[in-house]
Formats: sequence, C-alpha cells, structure tokens
Amino acid sequence: GAAALCFLLISLAVIIAVAVIQIHKKRYVSPGLKHGVVLDAGSSRTTLYVYQWPAEKENNTGVVDQTLRCDVQGPGISSLGIDTNVDYQMWHSMADCINKSKDVIPPTLHNTTPIYLGATAGMRLLRSQNETAADVILLTVQRYLQSLPFDYKGASVITGQEEGIYAWITANYLMGNFLEKNLWNAWVRPHGAETSGALDLGGASTQIAFTPEWEDRGDSTLSVMLYGYEYHVYTHSFSCYGRDEAERRLLATLVQKTSSSAFTENPCFPQNYVTTLSAKSIFGSQCTAIYRTEDYNPNSRITFVGTGDPGLCRETVFSLFDFTSCHGKQQCSFDGVYLPEVIGKFVAFSGFYYTAEALGLSGSFSLDTFNSSTWSFCAQEWQTLKAKHSTMKEGYLRSYCFSANYIYNLLVHGYKFNSLTWPLISFQREVSKSSIAWSLGYMLNQTNMIPAEAGHFKLPMSS
Ligand code: AMP
Repeated sequence: GAAALCFLLISLAVIIAVAVIQIHKKRYVSPGLKHGVVLDAGSSRTTLYVYQWPAEKENNTGVVDQTLRCDVQGPGISSLGIDTNVDYQMWHSMADCINKSKDVIPPTLHNTTPIYLGATAGMRLLRSQNETAADVILLTVQRYLQSLPFDYKGASVITGQEEGIYAWITANYLMGNFLEKNLWNAWVRPHGAETSGALDLGGASTQIAFTPEWEDRGDSTLSVMLYGYEYHVYTHSFSCYGRDEAERRLLATLVQKTSSSAFTENPCFPQNYVTTLSAKSIFGSQCTAIYRTEDYNPNSRITFVGTGDPGLCRETVFSLFDFTSCHGKQQCSFDGVYLPEVIGKFVAFSGFYYTAEALGLSGSFSLDTFNSSTWSFCAQEWQTLKAKHSTMKEGYLRSYCFSANYIYNLLVHGYKFNSLTWPLISFQREVSKSSIAWSLGYMLNQTNMIPAEAGHFKLPMSS
C-alpha cells in the first residue's frame, strides 16, 4: 500500500514538473510575436504599416520590425467627397491593403492586434475649412476600422507637433540611438548619446525635429523622457509647405501673373510638357484660397506649358516662402517661425527621399552635387524624360524639377543648411527595411513600448 502511494506521488510530481517546464518553455523560450497595424492617412494617400515584435522583449529598443507597407490606392481620405458614397469609397479602397495585413498576421492573433489610424495635414486643413466634412470622414473611417477583425484603438487627426516628434522617435529608435547593449550585455545609452534630426516632406505639410544646442531651446522645444533620459526636441510643422500644396501655390501664383494669355508658362515643368488642369485642382485648397479671383470658377480650365528653366524655377519657388516676416532675425526660418540653429546629423525621408532618388541621389552628398543633379534633371525635355522613366506616374515625373528646387529653398534659405552642414543630411527612406515615418513612433508610444524612467512618455492627446 505504502509503496503504491509513494509511486503514485512520484509519478504525480514528475507529471507536474514536466507540465511546469512546458509552460515555462512556452512563455520564455518561444513567447511568440505580437503585431500592430497603423494607417497613415496622409493628404495624398493612405499608407498601411504592419509591425511585429517579440512579446517578451517589447520594452527593448530596436526589436520592432515592419512586416508590411502597403499604399492604399486612390486619394487620401481628406479628398473623399462626402456627397458621394463615402462608406463605399472607404471599403473599396482600403480592402486590398487590409487583406494583405490579414495575410501577414496569424488569424488567431487578429483580435488582439491593435489597429490605429492617424490623419495628418490633409485632414487638419479640411477640418479648418469644413469641419462637418472632416467629421463625416473620420466617423466613416472609424466605423470601417471597427468592422475589421483587429483590436480597434482609435482613428484621430494628429497634430503637426506629434507628427514631427513621432517621426524623430521612429528614426532614432530604428538607428539604435536611444539604447545599446554594452560589453556586459546591459542596456545603456550609446556613447555620445547623439540623436539624428528628422526632416519629413509630406503632401500638405513639412516637419523638422531635432535636439538643438542647450542655449537655443525655445518655447517650441518639447521635453521627452525615453528610457530614463530626457531629450529636448525642437519640432515644427509648416502647414501648406508640403510638396503638393507648395506646388499648388506655385501654380496659383503663376496663373495670377499671366491672367491675359491663353496659357501659363511654368519654368519648373519640363520643356515641351503641356497640361490642362481644372481651376479647382489649383485654387480649391485652403492653401491657395487667397489667390482666387472674384470670378473664380472651379470648373474653368487652365493650360500650363513647361519651359524647363531651373534658374527661373528656383527663383520663383523662392517667393513661395515669406522671409520678410523674420525681419532679419537670426533664428527664424520663414513665416516668422522660430528655428534654432540646425545642428548634427539629419535624416530626410518621404518627399525628400523620393526627389533625391529621382535625381539619382541617395544617402549623403554635397550641396554642389545636389545642385548639379537638379540642373541636369531640369534640363531634360519631356519626351526624353518620359522615355527614361517609362513606368513612372506622369504626375510625379513632371514635378521633380519643382520638388528639387523647393527642397533647396526650404533647406538652404528656410532651415539655413549650408555647404558644410548639407552633407550631414542623409536622404533615406528606411532603416533596416523599416520605413522612417511617424507611424512607428506613434505606435510605440500608444502601446507604451518606449518606457520613460517613471511612468510613460505621453504627448498631449490628439484631438
Ligand atoms: P507621403 O510619403 O505619402 O506622405 O508622400 C509625400 C509626398 O511625396 C507627397 O507629395 C506625394 O505626392 C509624394 N510622393 C509619394 N510617392 C512618390 C514617388 N514615388 N515619387 C515622387 N513623389 C512621391
């Protein structure tokens, strides 16, 4: 009897021990992956990102990988006309990217995978112009996201400051600038603890974010606690200075100057390029409303003829910036906006990167190289250009000469980069296959994956 009981107890102990080891193994040896989805609802389009990270390491740095980037077909959500069927348009355009995201996330994890949508300058502008339309679109997108199998966490319009700071966090997180493992395998702040500035050129706004010199910290510098260290980050978002809105402003000023003739010459469009646009596509935006004439008719058509003149293009683009309101002050960019002296390394992504790439440039290069590449790009007439880049969308191809000259004026005259500091800018789109964009930083913050020393870093809530 006693021997049998003893045997039974030993067997029981062995079974329990095996079970405990199995559970332990499951939790600590193969803890599995977590996933997150962020939709970047930009002015020109929506981009969907899927991220994944090891569940048990989520507070470490650099462990999040981007597993999908998908461009939603069609325009940005701020352009969805609310008089037509918004619901249908939303479902129809998003379905493809959403299906792709379902494919990269195991089905059993869908209902625990957070999904966020952040809308940027396109929606900020629409809201200031037509609040009802912006609300209808946001409600529609909320309903749509809630209908998906994912864990809906919110759809909101983020502020320009959030957009700037989250992109700065993304870039530095991916570059491993916040933490690194030392010789003893402990996480420490990298030697020198230098961060890189972030330059983002979107469709409707452009952002700059960097840590200025101690004495240059002004009111627009935010204090951010990350992994126990405090960073003072200056950031500003310039509304109507995104690539598309800036070009719209250029076209509007050109039309204004040539009201008498049948067509308008554009020194930034390639030679022999001719296009006819609706007045609405130029003057319909909040950024160009001031250029509308009294007899403005949205349906009238305007013909542009390219002259491919880089010198005149650069000069005309210069006048899109209001430098006079800086009154010659030292630390002032344009429109009277305070800007500390730019210092250290920078990454320039999105529109900055696309433009450099079209000029045949990427990474770091001199200002002279950028200028000579711009000049030779602008000198190509339309047929040659089209033959060289046969797969490229016409809307992008015709505008690289403008974009290159716009970037020059923004960085050199606006932010005061010079031939010495320009090579410290790296034009790049991603770091180890993850895109540099505000979306990752936003998710890291929302999911509390970047801990501050005590409590968590949280920016003021977006509206
Ligand atoms: P996004 O990164 O989607 O916010 O786009 C930023 C700006 O770059 C917008 O003005 C877009 O129209 C423009 N853009 C997006 N993709 C390309 C591309 N492949 N070539 C040129 N411009 C682009």
